[in-house]
Formats: sequence, C-alpha cells, structure tokens
Amino acid sequence: MQKFDTHVHSNHSHDGKFGIDELARLASSHGVDGFCITDHLDLDLEWGECKSAFVWKKLRLEDYYQSYLNAKEEVEQCKNGSLNLLFGVEAGFSEKGCASEKYGEVIASYPFDEVINSTHCVLGREAYFADYFYFKSKRKAYGDYLDAVLKSLDAPYPYDVVAHIGYITHGAPYKDKSLVYEDFPDKFDAILKGIIELGKTLEVNFHHAVAPHKSVLERYFELGGRAISYGGDSHRGEIGERFDDFVALVKPIGFEGYNYFVRHAPVFVPFDKD
Ligand SMILES: [Zn+2]
Ligand SMILES: [Zn+2]
Repeated sequence: MQKFDTHVHSNHSHDGKFGIDELARLASSHGVDGFCITDHLDLDLEWGECKSAFVWKKLRLEDYYQSYLNAKEEVEQCKNGSLNLLFGVEAGFSEKGCASEKYGEVIASYPFDEVINSTHCVLGREAYFADYFYFKSKRKAYGDYLDAVLKSLDAPYPYDVVAHIGYITHGAPYKDKSLVYEDFPDKFDAILKGIIELGKTLEVNFHHAVAPHKSVLERYFELGGRAISYGGDSHRGEIGERFDDFVALVKPIGFEGYNYFVRHAPVFVPFDKD
C-alpha cells in the first residue's frame, strides 16, 4: 500500500527543522512513497484579527516555491526518483474578509496540489498558547473553538483538507484535555455534515494527541464521511512515522482507504485487504 503523508513542515515554517530537499531524502529512506510539503501560511495573523503571544516567521512564498522546485528536480534526477513530492500550504483561517481575499490571491498564484484549512486562532487568540484559556471554562474554550472550525468551512478560497479538529487540546491547561464527540454532539454534527456536503477531506492528524478523537471519526463514518487523509504534521522530519497507527485506527471503523491530492484533485489510496 502506498504510504503518503499530506501534512509536512520544512524550515520554511517557523517551527520546522529541515529543508525540503533534506525531507525528501529522509522520506525516501523511511519508505514513504510521497508527501506534500505544507508549510504555514499565517495570513490570519498578518491580515486577520488574530493575535499571537509569539512572533511567527512569515512564509516567503517565492523562496518556498523555489526550494520545492529544486527538491523536486533533485528527486527526479537522483536515486530517490520514485518519491512523489507535492506542493501545498497550511492556511490558518481568519473570519476577516481581507485575510480571505489575500488567501484567494496567493492560492491562485501558485500551482498548489493541496491547501490545508486549519483553525489555529479562536476569537482573535492563537489557541496554542495559555492566554487563550485565561478565565475560560473548558466548555467555553472548546465550544468557541468548534464554532470557529465550523465557520472555517465557509472559507471562500479553494481548500482540500480540514485539519486537526482537536488542536485546541494541546495547549489546554485542564487535567482532562480530551475533546470527544459526546462533549458537543450538535457542534460536531454540524462540522462533519459540512465537510461531507462540501466534498472536503477530514484529516487525521498525528502531531500531538490524535485529532480528531476516534469517537469523532466514528461519527463521521456513520454520517457517510469517507474522505480522510493522513497528516503526520511533522516538523522534524518524522514523515510517515505514525502511518501504521493511522491505519490501525481508521480501518476497524470501516474506512477503506485515504486521500492525497494532486492539483486539488483527491487521489484515493485503498488500504491493503486483510
Ligand atoms: Zn496546524
Ligand atoms: Zn501543520
């Protein structure tokens, strides 16, 4: 079965370690068949209402694209030529119209294979950091996050994947950080039905705790959702590292394969039959 990672960061992201060329070599040596490089494009911070406790490095798109082309050329000329290296971006959602407009311009300007739609900011705060949670109950903090994810589905620019639903849990200060379907069945149903109706793909993200939680994946399947992707979300070259965990999680639910994207068209990869 083809092992394909649809969510990978390079050193073009503020928190990535390796160049795209180095990642391509690493991926080949890890037995990965392909990956899409998806560095952070945080126009939500630049043009939206979002504030972060940390100053992120801005993605220099022309450098990023050139590095991708150079790595792609090396892949095609060298011994790791069978690797399928694709070009994408992770777009941090903002409700603000001017941020959406900028995303639209950028996405139309480059030949992206995949655009990841991510909710990192909620009501103007980056939800990765402690200050988002100040004076909020878990119910309020998580409920507002899910409302923001639902709004992100209406992003007026082309995107393929809805990423890491459950991102909020990572920085949460609560003893039990989990976010399960039963906590907010109505909000989850609205999001999952939206993803299905819009024909988008639900990412299963392995950066921290698996997101979304298994109970959410089960409900998605029950509602008729079949489009999923493996998002390793690696920042230090761990491309495809938890792919086997991904298969072990989703296959018993009933999923028969997963997607990656070429010029925004989903490519379905079936799982091996038992
Ligand atoms: Zn993200
Ligand atoms: Zn990411």
